[in-house]
Amino acid sequence: MTAGRLPTRAWLGSLLLVAVVLPACGTLSALFEKDSSSAFEYEADRFADLRVLRYQVPGFEQLDLEKKKLCYYLYEAALSGREIIYDQKYRYNLPIKRTLEQIVRHYPGNRETEDFRNFMVYVKRVWFSNGIHHHYSNTKFKPGFSFETFASYVRATTAPGFPLRAGQTQDEFLNELRPIMFDPAVDAKLVNKDKGADLVADSAVNFYRDVNQAEVEAFYAAMSDPSDPRPPSYGLNSQLVKRDGQLVERVWKVGGMYDAALSKVVYWLKKAAQVAENEAQRKALELLIAYYESGDLRVFDEYNIAWVADTSSDVDVVNGFIEVYNDALGYRGSFESVVSVRDPVATQRIQKIADHAQWFEDNSPLLPEHKKAEVKGITGKSINVVVESGDSSPSTPIGINLPNANWIRKEHGSKSVSLGNIVNAYNQARGNALAEFAYTKEEQKLSKQYGELGGHLHTDMHEVIGHASGQINPGVGTPKETLKNYSSTLEEGRADLVALYYLLDPKLVELGLMPNLDVGRAQYNGYIRNGLLLQLRRLEPGEQIEEDHMRNRQLVAKWAYEQGADRKVIEFKQRDGKTYVVINDYEALRGLFGDLLREIQRIKSEGDFEAGQRLVETYGVKVDPELHKEVLERFDALNEAAYSGFINPRLVPVQQDGVITDVQIEYPNDFTEQMLEYAERYAFLPAWN
Ligand SMILES: [Zn+2]
Repeated sequence: MTAGRLPTRAWLGSLLLVAVVLPACGTLSALFEKDSSSAFEYEADRFADLRVLRYQVPGFEQLDLEKKKLCYYLYEAALSGREIIYDQKYRYNLPIKRTLEQIVRHYPGNRETEDFRNFMVYVKRVWFSNGIHHHYSNTKFKPGFSFETFASYVRATTAPGFPLRAGQTQDEFLNELRPIMFDPAVDAKLVNKDKGADLVADSAVNFYRDVNQAEVEAFYAAMSDPSDPRPPSYGLNSQLVKRDGQLVERVWKVGGMYDAALSKVVYWLKKAAQVAENEAQRKALELLIAYYESGDLRVFDEYNIAWVADTSSDVDVVNGFIEVYNDALGYRGSFESVVSVRDPVATQRIQKIADHAQWFEDNSPLLPEHKKAEVKGITGKSINVVVESGDSSPSTPIGINLPNANWIRKEHGSKSVSLGNIVNAYNQARGNALAEFAYTKEEQKLSKQYGELGGHLHTDMHEVIGHASGQINPGVGTPKETLKNYSSTLEEGRADLVALYYLLDPKLVELGLMPNLDVGRAQYNGYIRNGLLLQLRRLEPGEQIEEDHMRNRQLVAKWAYEQGADRKVIEFKQRDGKTYVVINDYEALRGLFGDLLREIQRIKSEGDFEAGQRLVETYGVKVDPELHKEVLERFDALNEAAYSGFINPRLVPVQQDGVITDVQIEYPNDFTEQMLEYAERYAFLPAWN
């Protein structure tokens, strides 16, 4: 077996429609209440299909000085690595980023023209996506200005600092960038998962050079030892290239590829380790440093084991090459960092779910032989993000479940977190899609009343009991090996279905997690509406669904619709030429969710590639062009952004005689300024790596 890693990140889905929860009463209020800070301005910017929000960090000011310092050092470590993701995604991203930033800073000409405004939109899209491919659809976006305009900006900007290659003239440099930026056919897709595509050679991502899928697979097949019960995550921290006919890993470590950024990351991590909250946290940080210094993936595993064991610290950090979504073969991790502090109230909710994990496993609709006899080591908490970088920023997940190595999860458990203040910011900045797409006033009311709590519970259960449930039959390989490019979609579907199945279970009311089953009904409405209608807005006309989470949501919703069609469990309705989806029978829908959960678990447990492929290709990929067109038109009329990202807070150390006496938190409100500040302070890498 090669190393197995589950993609375990929750992204904003049904939460598109969640709303402010009404004040709750009675004994449950501690779990249901939320703080509403109405004066804070959540939305900061809007361009293309994007908007940029801000988030607060409740409780930061109340941290003691040592924890504030810890946050600050981890904040610097996070931002020091932020440019790595640009280069990982595409080898031209850093030269383009540097060039665009030079123009933004120094272009002396008129900035009030149509062209320059379009240029700024392009720059901001590049910042938002950490490169020139759309952060969500993975396709290259088109500049809203011509090559000639771009060239004129470069020529007029006389400041030094354009990232020419050695010996290159400015014209040669421009000619090199021309097809890269302006020809839509060149490196059109960041990750190409199309049926029949060479997942490596046809993807623009910079994880591989001059190699194809078969060569990569053979390389790691030769490396892996099937008898090793604790395999390292081979390929996680390197670029694989061909040199003189040989495949070579360029390892991302101090002294290796990305040395200039990783050395800074390590510098700040060392300071952080000195102010660790406790021995468990210090040990984890020291192992992380040792891993960055050695590049040794077995040390990374030791780090993860130590990190999972540290459950009592208030401050926590993810920093490393973590998620493998950007590699169609699932080997290479994208750099990211998330620094956070614990959110005590929401943590109580998640802990309650974790405490009853065994009950949920025992009572799930899985086939008996696919259930875990003992569900182990699930910890969950809600955190408030302090800063994010790399793959987690500006676009961010709302839930994280790590580590990804299957054997570590099995033997040591995992940590599952919900990003509380991020979810809160989404809720505060919600739009008008609910009123447009809900069929009845009753649905709207339900969503406004319970949508937020339902969303929280969905995310919590997805992460805490969803990914953790079930087991693979003896002798069957990891899902990545058996289900290949369908494994992520099916895994996300499985986790969603666990959450959906229990959202309508009286057990949650009994546990005090929700006041009544209307919370579940609100979440069912939101999920089905999103899976069958709303999420289509994220696609361009003519596109099919590529992204794993989108595929899983449509798969779940469409499968349930078709299986229950004769009983009208879910029904499409028309009113004034508009399409709506209505759930007629919630209990029956719950039964269908259980059926699909059992089947997807069977597929995973048995490694049934054919059945997995059939499910995803039949229900998760294809789009009805008429319905798609309608959804796009209705959203156009609403004038809302499809995706949100975030400006980070800024941490500012207060020093006296060279000693930090306090760390202040500021909430900047200008996206461009933050990106230029980061470009000024954290551009450690060479343009060409
Ligand atoms: Zn997930």
